[in-house]
Amino acid sequence: MDNFIETSSGLWEVVIGLEVHAQVISESKLFSSASTKFGVPPNENVSFVDAALPGVLPVLNSFCIDQAIKTGLGLNGNINKVSSFDRKNYFYADLPQGYQISQFFHPIVTGGYIEVEQADGTLKKVNIERIHVEQDAGKSIHDQSPTKTYIDLNRSGIALMEIVTKPDMRTAEEAATFLRKLRSILRYLKTCDGNMDEGSMRADVNVSVHRPNTPFGTRAEIKNVNSIKFLATAINFEIERQIEILENGGEVEQETRLFDSSTGKTRTMRSKEDAQDYRYFPDPDLPPLVLEQSRIDAIRETIPELSDAKSNRLQKDYELPKYDADLIASEIEIADFYEKALSSTKSNDKTVAKMLSNWILGELFALLNKNSADITSSRISPEALAELIMLIKTNVISGKIAKDVLELMWEEQKSPTVIVDEKGWKQITSTDEIEKTLREILAENADKVAEYKSGKDKLFGFFVGQGMKKTQGKANPQLLNDVLKKLLAE
Ligand code: ADP
Ligand code: MG
Repeated sequence: MDNFIETSSGLWEVVIGLEVHAQVISESKLFSSASTKFGVPPNENVSFVDAALPGVLPVLNSFCIDQAIKTGLGLNGNINKVSSFDRKNYFYADLPQGYQISQFFHPIVTGGYIEVEQADGTLKKVNIERIHVEQDAGKSIHDQSPTKTYIDLNRSGIALMEIVTKPDMRTAEEAATFLRKLRSILRYLKTCDGNMDEGSMRADVNVSVHRPNTPFGTRAEIKNVNSIKFLATAINFEIERQIEILENGGEVEQETRLFDSSTGKTRTMRSKEDAQDYRYFPDPDLPPLVLEQSRIDAIRETIPELSDAKSNRLQKDYELPKYDADLIASEIEIADFYEKALSSTKSNDKTVAKMLSNWILGELFALLNKNSADITSSRISPEALAELIMLIKTNVISGKIAKDVLELMWEEQKSPTVIVDEKGWKQITSTDEIEKTLREILAENADKVAEYKSGKDKLFGFFVGQGMKKTQGKANPQLLNDVLKKLLAE
């Protein structure tokens, strides 16, 4: 599929590659036993190693390495049996070592890919170049004093995975889809929580443009984009900026840029001329990282079913439409909620599986939205939702009343059965009772009955409405329809 951009001067093709920094889920740091807990007071999680006191030595945290291996396997990459750690040297106030330990020459993972769905529904592989493990730096805080900069080393030494893609993406939407899917996979794997607003995941995005069938253009790199929405905005701004330069006869400079989320624009941070020479060299304090095949195999066993496989299974086993299955499988928390609820219904009925999907994606999501909550902070448990669905399925309540029940479940934290009992909301399923009510309505509206009989079919809905009103919404809708038809035909 071509994704060319057409301007008055002709066609342009866009090239995008991402370098994603993903914080490894781990209780302690990459080379020290300090805690990684988020949101604690500054400099609480700092060991001698993280503060780079003289004479301390890094000790590799093998759990972080297991996490990187798991990530590599989940992204279809090759795990390198031998990798190594290198020093990336630069000065920064929040980098007390004067270098960052990273993997430059021999990363732990090479290759891999994620399949992303394109606008026309076809799948495209976005290839991964490499994944390497490295330390995070500390943080400089500039806004607490007019004259001083404070340093918080809580992040210093936290394990990051840098996931570098090939320049395989062609539109901002594709890059956004890729990042969303990558985040979902990392969450399924439980190797990174993907919380971009807490900085646990951030992306550097490389963008260039060129004429179709010519070599790639010069790229600009936009640093530290911290939301998926910003990613798309930054890319689209960058595309326009570069095309304008080229159409005016200029040249795109290879440079690092910053995205300003308040303006939606990018601006120069440093040009390639000032690019730093990091003088990478193997860290003499750390031996090469050698992995046994048995370790890799054992980790492979722990990889859960990921979103694509889960969506396919939901479609196959429960006959869910692809649209529903994709949405439910898109995040592990939604998928877990769905599957817990479904098993709690103890029903093999495919219509129950679909009802449950409708209620989660529709009513429950609306309720979560309204309460600024997400599925993990839902005040309605999967079991309680399952109970509600079965009340509808077994005709105890109508779908319409169930919506009110759901709201009360949220507010009052009671089971749907208790709410329905307390409110007397059980459906009327007695034909006699419904017939009696409808006969009253028809008698009160003799004029409308006559109109109906002379061909004004639309009035059927009016009678249904009256019937519902008179029964406070409790009449079984199907039964009401059937009885009404019978009476009007008399
Ligand atoms: P560096 O180490 O200088 O950042 P790399 O070659 O490792 O450079 O590339 C970094 C990122 O830039 C990768 O994600 C890659 O896919 C992307 N990239 C490389 N060339 C281009 C290009 N011409 N246009 C857009 N992105 C590119
Ligand atoms: Mg780079």
